[in-house]
Amino acid sequence: MSSSDQPFFVKCPVCRHLVPWTAEQEFKPFCSERCRLIDLGEWVMEEKRIPGEPLEQENDDGDDPFFQ
Ligand SMILES: [Zn+2]
Repeated sequence: MSSSDQPFFVKCPVCRHLVPWTAEQEFKPFCSERCRLIDLGEWVMEEKRIPGEPLEQENDDGDDPFFQ
């Protein structure tokens, strides 16, 4: 038997570093905060390509049915 405390390892999606999947590894699956921010930045850039609707509400016309 040779398996007990071996942590599960994942690869950092940014730099391919092996990262132990432990509670102290707060940036998992990334090896560091830096890699996480890099990946997050790329993800946000891809998100921007998806057309979205502007979230604007016209709530200022004083026509509130509950206001009676
Ligand atoms: Zn990394």
